[in-house]
Amino acid sequence: MLRVKDCLKDGLGRPITYLRTSITEECNLSCVYCRPRTGAPRRTEPPTMNRHEVVSLVKLFTQLGIRKVRLTGGEPMLRKDLETIVAMIAPEVDGRVHLTTNGMRLAGRARGLRDAGLLGVNISLDAAERESFRRLTKKDGFSRVMAGIHAARSAGLKTKLNAVVMRGWNDDQVLPLARLAMNEGFQVRFIEFMPYKDNGWDEEQFIPAEEILQRVQEGLGVALQEEPTINLEEGPARLFAIPGSSGKVGVISTLSARFCNRCNRVRLTSRGEMKACLFGNASVDLLGPLRNRATSDDLTRLIRHAMKEKLDCHPMRDGDQPILSRGMWQVGG
Ligand code: SAM
Repeated sequence: MLRVKDCLKDGLGRPITYLRTSITEECNLSCVYCRPRTGAPRRTEPPTMNRHEVVSLVKLFTQLGIRKVRLTGGEPMLRKDLETIVAMIAPEVDGRVHLTTNGMRLAGRARGLRDAGLLGVNISLDAAERESFRRLTKKDGFSRVMAGIHAARSAGLKTKLNAVVMRGWNDDQVLPLARLAMNEGFQVRFIEFMPYKDNGWDEEQFIPAEEILQRVQEGLGVALQEEPTINLEEGPARLFAIPGSSGKVGVISTLSARFCNRCNRVRLTSRGEMKACLFGNASVDLLGPLRNRATSDDLTRLIRHAMKEKLDCHPMRDGDQPILSRGMWQVGG
């Protein structure tokens, strides 16, 4: 049993209990805010953790006090062994395994994933209308994603929807998405558009969370009721109940109101690199040492050392550029 004092902490004493692991850089959508090159031939395949390596590194983190794991990408559902990975990880975190997906392949696999031990799924849905979805993602996949969303809920998975909001691209979708939350009882979280390498961020397209909330309140004609933050592992969203509905809306204000002071996260890329802060720390290779038969103690030392370097807040706080030399689809969003 791990003693509390031995749990993973960063240099500021923040307890680190939540691991987000990317399992592939590949994606089957080209979302305008992310811009992975879908289908582009690669000269060399990036090194990608096989499932045993994913599980070995996840286990190492759970031995350091990680209590929740999220699998992401790229598009994690492109991996055929996703269900196996979920089944292997679930016992390590008392079943607290979650998935972030674009939902394109979810309809037929939601029950299988639940049976494998998946607890919850966050589905990216940046538009509530077919044509807008196609414009944002470059694919005519709206119906497939909606089918995936309903399949996830029917399977009993905790289901949340995420929308990145960009002025001029999908700000007209804020209200339709909020109505989806209200009418169908979903939790829809609006995410501020974040900058990183080559993703075309500019200030004109940025909409702060407060403006999004105002649009929702005015459009729905209701006074949203903010809910207290109970559990850090539920994530950094501020959540609001919609009166008269079981639906909720949330905002994730990475730029306009930072929540770094309560950050409890660490990330692992599909290449097996650890990132203490998504935007603010260089990566530390764990896969190389793992493949070279490093011991658990060696790897633990690397992890603890990297964690001590975790920044107090990402550089965008001061208007600086993030330290993200690759795209979000490569690091794991
Ligand atoms: N393919 C999966 C999906 O679409 O959810 C997982 C990977 S995607 C990179 C994970 C998350 O990153 C998504 O919720 C997406 O909205 C978010 N994301 C990517 N680029 C972003 C950006 N520029 N600003 C804000 N969120 C972003």
